[in-house]
Amino acid sequence: MEIATVVKHPCAGMTKAQRRDFEMIAINERPRGGVQTLKALKARGLIEDAEPRIVGRDRFGDIKVPNWSIPLHVHRQWCEWCSKQPDPTDTGERDVSETIELQTCEHCQKDKDLSTMTRMDDCWFCAGCTAGFQKHFEACDHKWSPHIDSMGDEGQCCDRCTGFVRDEDFRLLFNKPAPDRS
Ligand SMILES: [Zn+2]
Ligand SMILES: [Zn+2]
Repeated sequence: MEIATVVKHPCAGMTKAQRRDFEMIAINERPRGGVQTLKALKARGLIEDAEPRIVGRDRFGDIKVPNWSIPLHVHRQWCEWCSKQPDPTDTGERDVSETIELQTCEHCQKDKDLSTMTRMDDCWFCAGCTAGFQKHFEACDHKWSPHIDSMGDEGQCCDRCTGFVRDEDFRLLFNKPAPDRS
């Protein structure tokens, strides 16, 4: 008889969202869940705070986002778990089609179905809030100032509605070139 060593996923027994965020961090992606999910992972010692990541610069200075890392021994356990799975690229998302994936809207803080949401920069917004922004944006008599967004794209930020348009999209949207950067 063969003796199988069972390697447990580091998040065994935790929620799907916690496990997903752990895996996102493990592969250097931004976790999608909220503060509670990260807190739970931290409480179990599965993630730890890392140096904030600098994603860009704006007129107020560096744009930093919080960052996390996985302690080495946990990461090792996870890698071992992955290697024991039938398909190493499948890291537990196999039942994604059966359940609705929830994501917290950055604006209204409500959990919504991720597939209906829009991503801007690193944040997710629900359909309702996105439509609201759009309306607000369209109704605005924009007052543009040069701005660099958190992805490092040069564009224009409206002082009135806080809308952001990349320079390369400006002509498409407004049928005129972006205002000069000075
Ligand atoms: Zn919302
Ligand atoms: Zn505006």
